[in-house]
Amino acid sequence: MQECIFCKIVNRNIPAEIIYEDDQVMAFKDIRPAAPIHYLLIPKKHIPTFLDLKEEDEGIVGHLQRVAGMIAREAGLTKKGFRLVSNCLEDGGQLIFHIHYHFLAGRPLQWPPG
Ligand code: 5GP
Ligand code: ZN
Repeated sequence: MQECIFCKIVNRNIPAEIIYEDDQVMAFKDIRPAAPIHYLLIPKKHIPTFLDLKEEDEGIVGHLQRVAGMIAREAGLTKKGFRLVSNCLEDGGQLIFHIHYHFLAGRPLQWPPG
């Protein structure tokens, strides 16, 4: 089976501007930023959607969220804040079927989304 694009980034088969990495997760700059700061936070394990999460994956998702806080602190966003959002399937606007959080910051973000 062909690797998905985010697995290719994890395996260094295509380049990305990686800003954080550990044994479980990775964060890198989105290729088409929607805000001054736009990172993608992914588990290294290939999980297509939130519907595919297994009990054993709970730790990875919790870790991803804690890493988001670490990145926010590192980026000096503890006052202004940020948005962490994940798109699931067609109506959610998911294009890459490897779970990811969008980490968006650097401008006031509108709510509700379009
Ligand atoms: P989704 O719509 O699946 O939630 O978001 C996928 C995101 O991945 C989009 O914001 C898109 O710009 C980003 N993206 C797609 N291909 C690449 C790539 O090759 N490298 C990087 N860094 N981001 C990508
Ligand atoms: Zn993948």
